[in-house]
Order: sequence, then C-alpha cells, then structure tokens
Amino acid sequence: MRRTLVAGNWKMHGTLAENEALLTAILAGIGDAKAQVAVCAPYPYLAQIQGKLTGTALAWGAQNLSQYGKGAYTGEVSASMLNDFGCKYVIVGHSERRALYGESDELVAEKYAAAQAAGLTPILCVGETLAEREGNVTEQVVGRQIDAVLNKCGVSSLAKAVIAYEPVWAIGTGVTASPEQAQAVHAFIRGKIRALDSAVADSLIIQYGGSVKAANAAVLFSQPDIDGGLIGGAALNAEEFLAICKVG
Ligand code: PEP
Repeated sequence: MRRTLVAGNWKMHGTLAENEALLTAILAGIGDAKAQVAVCAPYPYLAQIQGKLTGTALAWGAQNLSQYGKGAYTGEVSASMLNDFGCKYVIVGHSERRALYGESDELVAEKYAAAQAAGLTPILCVGETLAEREGNVTEQVVGRQIDAVLNKCGVSSLAKAVIAYEPVWAIGTGVTASPEQAQAVHAFIRGKIRALDSAVADSLIIQYGGSVKAANAAVLFSQPDIDGGLIGGAALNAEEFLAICKVG
C-alpha cells in the first residue's frame, strides 16, 4: 500500500498559546486522516509538543539540526538533543536554509547523516529556483542535491528518509507547481533512485511542497509519484491543515 506523509513546517511561527490551540484543533480532527501526519516546530516548543502529542497519532520534528554531535558550537542543536524531545523527523536542506544561511549540498548531506546516525528520519528538501527552471536545469539541480546525500550515505540510507521536492519559486508565493510539473520532477527523482535500488525507490516517500492548500492538495497528491506534502503556511491553520491531511 502507498504510504503518504503530510508534514507541517511551522517555520519561525507560533507561541505557547497559539501552539496549544493549533494542536488541540488538529488532534480533535485528525482521526480519519489518510496520511501519516507530523508537525515540525521551532526548537523552543519541542518540549511543549512532546507533552501534547505523546501517545497521539501525530508525530513531530524539528526544522534543522547541527551536523556535529556535541561541543563548542554556540547556538547549535544536535540530533541527540532532538531525540531527547521525542522528535521523529528533522527537515534538512530547506531552501530557506540553503539560500539565507548558505547551506551547501555537502553541509546538508552532513546534517542528513547526523540525523540518521541518531535514529531521526531526515526530510531532505530539494528544488530549483525560478531562474534554474527557466534555464532548463531543474533535473541537474535536483540531481546534484540528491547526489550529495548518495555520495555521503549511499542509496540504502533513503530507506530511512523522506525527500521533499520543493520548487523554490512555489514556496510561500501562492504559486503552486502544476500537478504535471511536480509529477515530472517526482518521477525523475524516483527514477534516479530506482536505477540504484528499486526496492528503496518503491518505498520512498517523496513529498511535494510549495503553496499546498486544501484546494489543490487532492490533485497534487493523486499524481503517481507524489506521496503527500510538506506544508508551510497552510500548516498554521488547523482547518486547512486537516483538510490536506485527509486528502493524503
Ligand atoms: C515550506 O515551508 O516548506 C513550504 C512549502 O511553504 P508553503 O507551503 O507556505 O509554500
């Protein structure tokens, strides 16, 4: 059976009170969700989320981690610290981290490896900018981002990972990739993995992210190689998020 994952990326949003209200509303409505569901929250709220979601159908995770295990890295958070707060997932290589914090493909691969070494499931974000799409290099860019992880960790590592295809031009813009555009890149990703290991390719969850809403989730998630979504803005609204989870 096809597995799907809908994960909310809260980015730098939320307060204790807002999170409490959002999670209460999501828990009240999540019963018949088809997808596995997770929320990825800012670090300071992970304890709150662990307290609220332990024993429920919702998983949770973080949005970033250090590539290092411990030491003199002021301001950083390690994979084992995320484990202490019950995280199952951690986003690595989100385009905002690549663009705003200069995270290279190699650094993202190190973070992916650090997450897996601690038993966390990395959600590896890949995707092209608008200029790259218009320059017809989408597959080269996405292929290069995935190769960095394959070179460091091997194809078998993808048995314990999720890939999120997030075209940069669709994130937070309200412009969604068409189902055909998204499916084409998802098929490229799965085909690339299938050439190395067909069992890993078949079971790999490849999420789509980029302005997913309740109104467009069904058509996106019905594409053969789209296995749910990584949801930004719509994950902050319980009604929208629940509607997306019920599609997935
Ligand atoms: C994201 O944060 O990864 C994202 C896809 O955001 P949005 O859904 O708001 O485009």
